[in-house]
Amino acid sequence: MLIFDAHLDMAWNALEFNRDLMLPVSEIRKFERQFTDIVPGENTVSWTELRKGNVFLTISTLIARLHRKDAVRTFYQSREADYGAARGQMAYYQAMVERGVLRPITDVATLDAHVAEWESGNTDELPMGYILSMEGSQPVQNPEQIHHWYDLGLRILGPAHYGENPYCFGTGSQGGLKADGPALLKAMDAVGMLLDATHLADQSFWEALDIFEGPVLASHHNCRALVDADRQLTDEQIKALIERGSVIGAAMDAWMIQPGWVIGVTQPSDACTLSTLADHIDHICQIAGNANHCGIGSDLDGGFGKEQSPHDLDTIADLYKLGEILKSRGYSDADVEGIMYRNWVDFFRRAWS
Ligand SMILES: [Zn+2]
Repeated sequence: MLIFDAHLDMAWNALEFNRDLMLPVSEIRKFERQFTDIVPGENTVSWTELRKGNVFLTISTLIARLHRKDAVRTFYQSREADYGAARGQMAYYQAMVERGVLRPITDVATLDAHVAEWESGNTDELPMGYILSMEGSQPVQNPEQIHHWYDLGLRILGPAHYGENPYCFGTGSQGGLKADGPALLKAMDAVGMLLDATHLADQSFWEALDIFEGPVLASHHNCRALVDADRQLTDEQIKALIERGSVIGAAMDAWMIQPGWVIGVTQPSDACTLSTLADHIDHICQIAGNANHCGIGSDLDGGFGKEQSPHDLDTIADLYKLGEILKSRGYSDADVEGIMYRNWVDFFRRAWS
């Protein structure tokens, strides 16, 4: 089964958690067992594991954020540091490209060529394709700098992450776009950078969709109707995204899947499995009346590990199980293929044409 994962923070894991992502997950876990106080729970993602799981296309992020015990210190104290962190992560991806591990996917031509090789099944020598995204817009020093980032290969910007930033409000905060927000979105439109609506606070979400004219995606997002939190999409937001031709990536952070999950308290159990996640996917498909707007945006390396992932998933190589669950629920082969990878591929073909 071919799988597209629309949200991974690979460079952040390599630099901030000091993970050698060329190792199998089992090796990384073994190494980290002695450092339990500074890394999240058992790791589930590496380049090796993605390859094993036939996940040959990802959206991989730049994310200017630290991992510190005190929440306030997780944010850089200056925008220049945000910029430097994001450029550093970009250099990591570039080094992986030079090593032959990765291949940047930046337009229809590189996308089509990569997908054709992948679909041929001859993947022994195939580098993994990645589309570069930024989660949280702090590294963008001013709206005009979008041109610079686009030239460097950035194709997607999710302006929000947690809390507020110079352009908008994100998860856990409330408010509309800030003074520079509209100019940022217009600059994105001008260069053809795509908008990731994930993490936008409700008012910022609606204002951004009004102003931004280009293609919108929701890389890692589940349903508020099933688990009530501002991080999740309301049915109205899902409808608006569907009208814009978006794809919504199913996120695998347990608290976003299972109602009532308390981070650090709730233990993994069969109350939170890939099947529970399939309920969120099904909810979106029912609203859409088809299966064309769902995909995967696992976020499995987003600052948590196995302790906060679906119970039947050991590593990211287990994503294929989601396809089997959807099949068992009566989804057609074409629909399952769409959700596992093709809806994202089609989205980018449309967006970049
Ligand atoms: Zn996120």
